Order: sequence, then C-alpha cells, then structure tokens
Amino acid sequence: MTFTELQLCEPVLKNVLAAGYTQPTPIQEQAIPVVMAGRDIFGCAQTGTGKTAAFGLPILHRLHNEGPFRGGPRVLILAPTRELAVQIDESFRTYAKGLKVRSVVLLGGVSIRPQIEQIRRGVDVIIATPGRLLDVVEHRALNLSNIHTFVLDEADRMLDMGFLPSIRQVVKLIPTQRQTLFFSATLPREIRDLANSLLNEPVHVAVAPENTTTEMVDQRLYFVERDRKRALLAHLLEEDLEGSVLVFTRTKRGADRVTKDLMKVGLKAASIHGDKSQMARQKALQDFKSGRTRVLVATDIAARGIDIAQLPYVVNFDVPEAAETYVHRIGRTGRAGRSGVAVTLATPEDRNSLRDIEKLIRMRIPAVRDHPFEG
Ligand code: AMP
Repeated sequence: MTFTELQLCEPVLKNVLAAGYTQPTPIQEQAIPVVMAGRDIFGCAQTGTGKTAAFGLPILHRLHNEGPFRGGPRVLILAPTRELAVQIDESFRTYAKGLKVRSVVLLGGVSIRPQIEQIRRGVDVIIATPGRLLDVVEHRALNLSNIHTFVLDEADRMLDMGFLPSIRQVVKLIPTQRQTLFFSATLPREIRDLANSLLNEPVHVAVAPENTTTEMVDQRLYFVERDRKRALLAHLLEEDLEGSVLVFTRTKRGADRVTKDLMKVGLKAASIHGDKSQMARQKALQDFKSGRTRVLVATDIAARGIDIAQLPYVVNFDVPEAAETYVHRIGRTGRAGRSGVAVTLATPEDRNSLRDIEKLIRMRIPAVRDHPFEG
C-alpha cells in the first residue's frame, strides 16, 4: 500500500512524503482508514511502530477538512511522560506544515502561565500529560467541550504511573459523543477494562504480537558479576559499540552512578530520570540526539517516548524485573526498518528474570562467551 492510496488530503500527504516516508507502516495501514471512517480504535502497538502518524495523519486530515474553528481545541491527546508529549508535538508539527492547525503542549515542571497564554491565542490540538491538563482546567483556561477526538497514548504506562484517576476526571470533562483512539503496548486486564469503559465499538488493530521481540534487533547477553558491570560497560563502549548508546538502569541513583563512572573514563555521558528538571531532561535528550553526548543513561519511565530513529545500541545495564520492560527497552533500537543491537548485562541473581524474559520472547538470548569480564 502507498500513502497516496490512503486518501489523505493533499497538504498532509505532501508533508508525509517530505518526511521521507515511502510506505505506511503496518499500524498506519490498519489504523488510518479506520480513523478516517470515524471509528474508535483499540490499538496494541509500541512506540517505534509509526503509531504517532497512525493517529496523527487522519486527525490532521479531519481538522484541515473542517477548516478554521474558534471554539477551542477539537483534539485532546494524553501522554504519560513529558518526553512522549514533546515528541508527539514534534511529529504533529512535521505532519501539519502549511496547515492552519495549532497545537499546544501542556507539561508539568514548567511555568503554567505561558501555556495558558498559548491557549488564549487559539488552539486546535492539546497534547498533555494528565496532571498539567487538569491544572490548566482548574485555572479555567481551557474549554474542553468541543473535543471530538480523544487520544490516549501508552495507556499501560499511564496506569503504571498512577494516572487512572486523572484520566477518569479528564473523560468527565470531554463530550461523550467523540472519537476515541486508545493505544497500549501491553494488554493487561486493567487496560482492557479501561478501554471498554472509554471506547464505543472499537476496531482492534495490533502490530506484532504483543510480546515478541522485534526481529531487527541483534540481542547479546553478557554474564558478569555485579561489581564488574561498570568496567564491562566502559569496555564495551570503548571496544565494541560505535556511536550512540542508550543505557538502562533500574534506579535513578544507578543512572547517576553509571554516568559518573563513564565520565571518569572520558566518555561523554548524561543521565535522564524523574528527579531531573524538565530543562535538564530536554537538554540531555537534545545533546544525545545531536550526538554531542554519546551515552544516555536512563530509567525506564524517563526513557519512554524517547524517539531516535537511528539509535543503534541499547544496553540493559540492569536486567529489568518485568519481562515486558525488556521488550520495551530493546524496542528502542531496530526501528523503522533499521537493525539494532541490544546488549544485556546479567549477574547470577538475574537468572529468574532472564528465564521470564526468554519465556516471553520465546527465544534464548545468545550469550557472549569468553569476554574479559566473565564470571
Ligand atoms: P512512532 O512509533 O510514532 O514513535 O514512530 C517511530 C519512528 O518512525 C519515528 O521516527 C517516525 O518518524 C518514523 N516513521 C513513522 N512512520 C513512518 C513511515 N511510514 N516510514 C518511515 N518512517 C516512519
């Protein structure tokens, strides 16, 4: 299928082609016609599958066709993290070039005034994290009564982060007559319940069975004692892995500690996690994207939504406790048709977690033998 066959309006189609997309991704192929037909969606897809365009393009198509509107925002997109919200906004700006569609991002951690000011100047699309959205509503600065399209992105992560009550509150503020597009990477019971309560005869779309590891990722496992992990990481960065590397740690303190150690041996590294200010996170991300920082060390929550199309390496400095987290992490590489490498450092204590991961991905992660830090 080609983008032309999707019957998107001319300016949106032009922007997609200008972005260098030649073919819709599977989620786009499935979702775009359904959204254009006005149906609700229950989508199972991870970030990295082209999900943002899957809902963004038909939304922009509709806004363009409707023409200018002065009654406040018509589209509300909720995202769990600041990073994901910013990224969705960046994608929207790319896809909306030349269109008279205005988007505003509402994020916590920064001053609310400029955001309210932006809304006053007119807005069609609100992209927000739930907490800040409700703050802005409390300031009586936002009228949500004309929302016709509601997108809930990374719903599973929203629930993990405790946003369920906020989501319920937001839903009370928007019309019941609306189109709802619901996306989640995993489908636990609570997610299905939430989807049932929000969606009206949804069309189910899914890409890649929920828990299979992307085939484009070359996975490697290093067994190592806990106290030698940092030395092994430095060694890998110096000898094996070329270019940008995203490193995952289990804790914020771990992220800071690893970053400090890498800097000590002269590597350009920065950390990103929930204790850092919004400014510091944005800067770390920008420096990493531009290549000024070679290694970004992140916790799982902070890393959600980091979208770097050409990220060649992911390192699991710590084996994640939840097997699904492993799938999310390594899904950061090997995106958009490119290959990637995912390295996992495992200590003897990680055996159980590893067994769970291998069960989930239905394969053994190949172990690298005879490396200098083995044991
Ligand atoms: P997402 O899942 O929305 O975060 O998108 C993942 C990455 O794929 C982003 O860098 C997009 O710019 C890129 N992308 C989205 N759709 C396409 C497409 N049809 N062809 C090539 N790249 C795409």
